[in-house]
Amino acid sequence: MNAERKVHIKSFGCQMNVYDSHRMADTLAPEGFTETAHVEDADLIVLNTCHIREKAEEKVFSELGRMRVLKEAAARAGRRVTIAVAGCVAQAQGDEIVRRAPSVDLVVGPQSYHRLPALLARAKRDGPIIDTEFPIEDKFDKLNPPSREAIRARGVSAFVTVQEGCDKFCTFCVVPYTRGAEASRPVVKIVAEAERFAWAGVREITLIGQNVNAYHGQGPDGRPWPLARLLARIAQVRGIARLRYTTSHPCDMQASLIAAHRDLPGLMPYLHLPVQSGSDRTLARMNRRHTRADFLDMIARLRAARPDMAFSSDFIVGFPGESEHDFEATLSLIDEVGCAGAFSFKYSARPGTPAAEMPDQIHEHVKSERLHRLQAAIDRNTAAFNARCLGRTFEVLFEKPGRYPGQIVGRSPYLQPVQVMASQSWIGKVAGVTITEAGSNSLFGMLASEEQAVGD
Ligand code: SAM
Ligand code: SF4
Repeated sequence: MNAERKVHIKSFGCQMNVYDSHRMADTLAPEGFTETAHVEDADLIVLNTCHIREKAEEKVFSELGRMRVLKEAAARAGRRVTIAVAGCVAQAQGDEIVRRAPSVDLVVGPQSYHRLPALLARAKRDGPIIDTEFPIEDKFDKLNPPSREAIRARGVSAFVTVQEGCDKFCTFCVVPYTRGAEASRPVVKIVAEAERFAWAGVREITLIGQNVNAYHGQGPDGRPWPLARLLARIAQVRGIARLRYTTSHPCDMQASLIAAHRDLPGLMPYLHLPVQSGSDRTLARMNRRHTRADFLDMIARLRAARPDMAFSSDFIVGFPGESEHDFEATLSLIDEVGCAGAFSFKYSARPGTPAAEMPDQIHEHVKSERLHRLQAAIDRNTAAFNARCLGRTFEVLFEKPGRYPGQIVGRSPYLQPVQVMASQSWIGKVAGVTITEAGSNSLFGMLASEEQAVGD
């Protein structure tokens, strides 16, 4: 029997890191580790890091400074605290981390999480360890599955990683270097995970991957299955009411995936489809492999398949050589698509990527000014989309209690938080809600049927 210890895992960056953090916690559970939200109580601190932009990387080093102080204070009180750095910064900067932050005991890359218990034991015995290899074995086969209690504690909506890595090599992006080549998990493993989630009460599954629609995992028939077929299979899992997938590349939106939006009622009519820029010149320099017209054509095909489809996207401002004219093309694209939401980023030069070496790097103040204008365009489109939701009746999946007594919060098909006055017994259920008020960040509504309101 292992002595009880506490682990605090802090995730930076994307949903893939959140998923990985859960799987690390599940793998540490048989070693006697329970999760704590309070870093001061932890015997083991894991920072699951993101390397996508310079700011994300800086955050890790400033966080490590705080962790060192905690570790030293614990040592003075006679308690040993272990610090581990995981994720993409670990992968990219293994040696540098240990050099700059000697309080770190373990640096572990995203492909080695299944070795965590053994690596921790080795670090305790031999001192700091760096493991950033891409081992042959599949980490997902070795990672411990979550307990029913752990799944429940994480809520009714869950992520499942189906694909990792990327072969696209956009000129600004570090993902192909930190997460490696594209690899898909086999269908049976993913279905087993979805079934386990459903058994524990999960109602919505989001399939995730750095380039999820490039999915081509081995099916039970021994042949590669595209994402559309995987989605159709998971739609059959009892208890799973809703499906989503993210993040997709426009070039991998195959006809079968577009058709899935028409044919699978559980597949939500909301797609995050990063485009990065509305200018063909910039798209070519980013090596995105499609034009603005291709992207708009894709949006039109998806809307033809499912008329209530809405879109969000990612945009980068200040990519090297971006002119005012290029930037205005991005602004007009947002209006042309009528984005329901979007993430926007200032271009951040990442060492080792081709764009970092390009001439005509854009000055910081120009990037800031463009980001400001971009965000205004996004906010305007989001507000217009939310306003169009007024009076509509949506299926809402209730997730948790609201901020005020008697209130519960769920998500619309378009991921908007929806606040409703109703009994907590609705949590975990999907019900029709008529939208009565649209705020800037959330919607308010009432259960569509009186019967439902008293149905607990
Ligand atoms: N695979 C997705 C795609 O095809 O776009 C996105 C993956 S990336 C984790 C998420 C977003 O970060 C990208 O869509 C892009 O907008 C942004 N991003 C990536 N590298 C960046 C960089 N060097 N500077 C600014 N933003 C960046
Ligand atoms: Fe990065 Fe996405 Fe481009 Fe892959 S497709 S290189 S993850 S931005």
